[in-house]
Amino acid sequence: MNIQDKSQIDLFKTKIHNSQKVVIVPHNNPDGDALGAALGLFNTLQNMHKEVSVISPNEFPDFLNWMHGVESVLIYDKNVKQSKKLIAESELVIFVDFNALSRIKLMGEVFEQDDTPRIMIDHHPFPEANVAEVQISVPEASSTCELLFHVLCEAGFKEQVTREAAECIYAGIMTDTGSLNYNSSRPETYLIVAELLRMGIDKDRIHHMIFHNNSFDRMRLLGHALGEKMERIPAQKAAFIALSQDELKRFNFKPGDTEGFVNQALWIEGVNLSALFTEKKDLVKISFRSRGGFPANKFSEQYFNGGGHYNAAGGESKLSLSDTVERFKVVLKEFCLANGFD
Ligand code: 5GP
Ligand code: MN
Repeated sequence: MNIQDKSQIDLFKTKIHNSQKVVIVPHNNPDGDALGAALGLFNTLQNMHKEVSVISPNEFPDFLNWMHGVESVLIYDKNVKQSKKLIAESELVIFVDFNALSRIKLMGEVFEQDDTPRIMIDHHPFPEANVAEVQISVPEASSTCELLFHVLCEAGFKEQVTREAAECIYAGIMTDTGSLNYNSSRPETYLIVAELLRMGIDKDRIHHMIFHNNSFDRMRLLGHALGEKMERIPAQKAAFIALSQDELKRFNFKPGDTEGFVNQALWIEGVNLSALFTEKKDLVKISFRSRGGFPANKFSEQYFNGGGHYNAAGGESKLSLSDTVERFKVVLKEFCLANGFD
């Protein structure tokens, strides 16, 4: 769909009008854009007197804990029974910031059998077929939150977007663009930000809550990651950081603590690909960031069962942390050779 394409938006409008019980689902490990879109929509639909719930596949980071309505977010992996009941009783499910059922992990099973009408609002490329009957998929949007605001306005629901909803939406635009640093060259993004400011959002407070509210431990973990753990692969213009469970425990790791670490290695002169490997209980979570034409999503999809955007992607590995890093070095060389990156 093109951002100007109105047919899916008309369907969105009709489905919202015809549904009273709505469930909103962001992706696993929700980030600012996923939770911002979920709660931006939640607050808007509540204002339209809908019975609305947000169910997140797993926990969200503390730095998003200020968002209006956040206390009512149900965590699927801690409340499976209650979540299933809410989904079974709902008349409409809205997926935000993902386009494949694998992105909601175990929660995906619920929707394999479920026949509740579904809407997807997302900005990742290559949507999986039949994830939802209404697919509002616009990869050129900076963020799902930008797209959501556009869709709400086009559908005639702007009056119902409260200041609280606007703050959640702004948080998603800001976090997905690195404070309007990348993915933010379309003038429309700034028109939307201007509109959100007119609606009374406290931009500086949101920035403070998200970026200037770090725990002491998180800052020390960042120092450790950059000072002790960052490595370079000069031949492939790459750099990476690998963090073990022991290291994370040492710094009292909490969800979200490593958010943004992967961007840092990309600030090094001559580095076009940055990777962050984080050892979890049963897998290694991987984040990639790139510049200079390196397709992070293609690389992640090909070797690490992942995907995402061209310059920001993620994946995972079932190997040990050290084997994952060794494999990364080998496949990166192979990929660069095959695709003419040197
Ligand atoms: P992050 O590195 O911040 O976790 O994710 C960067 C981007 O890649 C996000 O747009 C996210 O949705 C996507 N992404 C992260 N992990 C995965 C994954 O395991 N599979 C896919 N398909 N996309 C991912
Ligand atoms: Mn996003």
